[in-house]
Amino acid sequence: MKKYNFYAGPAILPREVIEAAAAAVLDFEGMGLSLIEISHRSKQFVAVMDEAVALVKELLNIGDEHEVLFLSGGASSQFYLTPMNLLDQDEKAAYVDTGTWASKAIKDAKLFGNIEVLASSKDKNYSYIPKTDNIDTSYKYLHITSNNTIFGTQYQTFPDVAVPIVCDMSSDIFSRPIDIHKFDLIYAGAQKNMGPAGTTLVIVRKSALSKVSRVLPAMIDMKNHIEAESMYNTPPVFPIYVSMLTLRWIKNNGGVAGMQVRNETKAQLLFDEIERNPMFYSPTVAEDRSRMNVCFLLHNTALENEFIAKAIGAGCVGLEGHRSVGGFRASIYNAMSAEGVQALVDIMKEFERTHG
Ligand SMILES: *Cc1c(COP(=O)(O)O)cnc(C)c1O
Repeated sequence: MKKYNFYAGPAILPREVIEAAAAAVLDFEGMGLSLIEISHRSKQFVAVMDEAVALVKELLNIGDEHEVLFLSGGASSQFYLTPMNLLDQDEKAAYVDTGTWASKAIKDAKLFGNIEVLASSKDKNYSYIPKTDNIDTSYKYLHITSNNTIFGTQYQTFPDVAVPIVCDMSSDIFSRPIDIHKFDLIYAGAQKNMGPAGTTLVIVRKSALSKVSRVLPAMIDMKNHIEAESMYNTPPVFPIYVSMLTLRWIKNNGGVAGMQVRNETKAQLLFDEIERNPMFYSPTVAEDRSRMNVCFLLHNTALENEFIAKAIGAGCVGLEGHRSVGGFRASIYNAMSAEGVQALVDIMKEFERTHG
C-alpha cells in the first residue's frame, strides 16, 4: 500500500531524491565506490558541496553579503553558536518565545549576553504569534522561530523591525520566498524540509561576524567554517548530498515560489476540512496557522486512538500530535503531495460519516 508520511522530523523526502541517494550509496557517479566511502576532498564531493551552496543561493536569492554553510550539530547547536558569534557578553538581543524550540534558544543564549524576551505566547499554550514590530534599535538582533513545528504556528510575514533578524527556519526553510536582506543569520536543521538529519544549513551575513571580543574555539567560530568552505572538519557527506538532491528537486519544481503555491493549496485543503468537519477543531488562531505543521484535535478525545488506527489503515502515518498539544499533527512539508493531504481529508470525512 502507498504510504503517506506525515512525520514531523525526520520527515518526508521526494521519492526521486531517495532513489537517487540510494543509487549513490551503491555507486557514486560511476566511480565504482560509494558516496559514503570517498574523501570529502575528492573532486566529486567538492562538486556536491559547491552545487548545494550554489542552489541555496539561487533558490533564496542570496547575493555576496551572505555566506552559506553546511555544518553539523543540528539546529540545537545554533542556539549557542549564534549568540557566541554575534553577541558580546555586555550586549543585548531580543528574543520571541513562540514554543519549545524558541525557549531552548533563549535558555542557551542567556549564557552569552543580555537576552530580553520581548514577547511570549506561552500564556495560551503557544497557539499564536505575538507581535513585535518597531522594537528598540539598541538590540543587536531579534531572534525568532519562523515556524513552530510542535505548536503549528508560523510567521506569515516577518516582523517589521530596524534591527537584523536571526531566525530558526528549521521547519519551513525553502517553503516560500524570503527577503534575505532582513536577516543576519538563518539556521535550519536539514531533517524537516531539506534532507536527512545530520547537517544544518547556516546562512550568515559576513559583516555581522568578527565583532565579538570572546575567544572562540575553531569549531564554534563561523569565520573558520566560511574560510574552509564548510570543510574545516569532515562534513556530514551523506546528509549534504541528499540535501543537494532535494534542492535540485525544488529548483525543478518551480523553486521556492512554486513550493509556496503547492504548500498553500495543501494547507487550505486540510484547514477547510478541519473548519467544516464538526468532529475536529484547530488549537491555533487562524491568522498564525502553519502551512507546514497542521495541528488538529477531536472534540471527543476518546476517539483519538481509533482515528490514528483508521489513518494507518489508509496508509497515513506519523499523525500523532506532540504531547504538549495532544490530538494530531499533519506535517505537510514541501515533499508531501496534495494527493497525500486529500487521503487524510478523506479519512476525516469518513470518520464523520461513521462517528459523527
Ligand atoms: C526540529 C527543530 C529544532 C531542533 O533541531 P535539531 O536539528 O534536532 O537540533 C529546532 N528548531 C525547530 C524549529 C525545529 O523544528
